[in-house]
Amino acid sequence: MAQTVVIGGGAAGLAAAVSAARTGFQVTVLERTDTLGKKLLSTGNGRCNLANRAQSPSFYHCNEEGFPLGALKRFPFQAVLDFFESLGLSFKEREGYVYPRSLKASSVRDALLSELRVLGADVRTGAKVTGIFRDGNRLLVKTAETSFGAEGVILACGGKAFPASGSDGSGYLLAESLGHRVIPPVPALVPLYAEKTPLAKAEGVRAAGRIDLYDGARVRSAAGELQITGFGISGIPAFQVSRYAARALSEGRPVKAVVSFLPEYDVRKLPDRLAERIRRLPGRDFMEILSGWFPEKLSAALLKKAGIPLHIPARDPSPRVLQALSGAIAAFPLNIVGTGDFSKAQVTAGGVDTAQVDPDTMESRIFPGLYFAGEILDVDGDCGGYNLHWAWASGLLAGKQGKQ
Ligand SMILES: Cc1cc2nc3c(=O)[nH]c(=O)nc-3n(C[C@H](O)[C@H](O)[C@H](O)COP(=O)(O)OP(=O)(O)OC[C@H]3O[C@@H](n4cnc5c(N)ncnc54)[C@H](O)[C@@H]3O)c2cc1C
Repeated sequence: MAQTVVIGGGAAGLAAAVSAARTGFQVTVLERTDTLGKKLLSTGNGRCNLANRAQSPSFYHCNEEGFPLGALKRFPFQAVLDFFESLGLSFKEREGYVYPRSLKASSVRDALLSELRVLGADVRTGAKVTGIFRDGNRLLVKTAETSFGAEGVILACGGKAFPASGSDGSGYLLAESLGHRVIPPVPALVPLYAEKTPLAKAEGVRAAGRIDLYDGARVRSAAGELQITGFGISGIPAFQVSRYAARALSEGRPVKAVVSFLPEYDVRKLPDRLAERIRRLPGRDFMEILSGWFPEKLSAALLKKAGIPLHIPARDPSPRVLQALSGAIAAFPLNIVGTGDFSKAQVTAGGVDTAQVDPDTMESRIFPGLYFAGEILDVDGDCGGYNLHWAWASGLLAGKQGKQ
């Protein structure tokens, strides 16, 4: 029986191993840490948001735009659910976000491991792979202690995000040693760090809003619940645009964010709306005028930014005051000076250049017999189940090694 070695026992590696074993290969999984699926156990705050019903190519990012579709078309949302159902898992869905019914990430990991045990896969922990070589018609995978011969090798070592879970970037070195290019990895799904502004005074506030991020090339926008921090801004919208900020900063391009705390209103019409609100609510000071819209700390920070004393009566404000306050509310500027680092990142943007990988099989175009799966590739998804979907889809496809 043909041998397959899967390097990396994370989400993508475990899915690839099940797929390879079901396709008929004799499978060995080599995981460098002592725990399989260590990162998987941390996903979704321990509940594992394993997929999302809302699907669009725009949720996945890659230098080669169409590349992720190769795997995603073969393993769309329902196929991923069918796969996990075949392992005995059932689901809980909230607004399209899919979790295991138990709301425990360990259920997902354990379902994969049970299947591997039943399929007779050889699963090893504490086995860090240090080299991959060609050996006649076969490939040779080396760890510090021993080596494994195989017809197929699936590289699923993850990226550099959350290295405490084992993904320390060593997969890139293995890929590079075989001639693969690596697009410089940067952290993604991380908070944004900004030059200090009065917004820092609203630290701890959560508020609805939109971020428009200018990375020197394009505007990237994301809306949702913002989380104001002492160092900048966090929350899902900040996470969604962070990959662009990290990339631009790593290339020396300046990054600016413009935050709207009233995204439902057009900033150009806001001065009139504010004037009308002030007329409708006589006898109030500016803090009271804003109190129906924002938490107190945020109102204070916005007024400070606009240069308006908090407790002066909001009577007959001048156009300049209305303009300044509208600007603070709906176009609060932040100079972005950094992002969270890899230790805080949920995913890596960048990785093995997909131009050297066949999207229909995940096989290397330059080193036949070598396949890739998961985050090690230059593919990252938005927050919301898309990174795990990519891990499953690319792993299931790689495991087939070109077979139907
Ligand atoms: C805190 C957190 C929460 C997240 N929550 C979600 C979520 O809810 N939904 C979602 O879609 N995504 C989530 N993600 C992202 C998602 O977990 C990852 O994108 C996904 O797990 C990547 O899977 P992978 O198998 O490619 O890589 P990894 O999970 O990183 O696995 C790679 C494995 O390879 C091993 N390895 C590395 N080098 C070697 C080597 N040389 N030899 C042997 N083994 C090696 C590593 O130890 C590791 O176990 C989250 C990420 C984090 C950090």
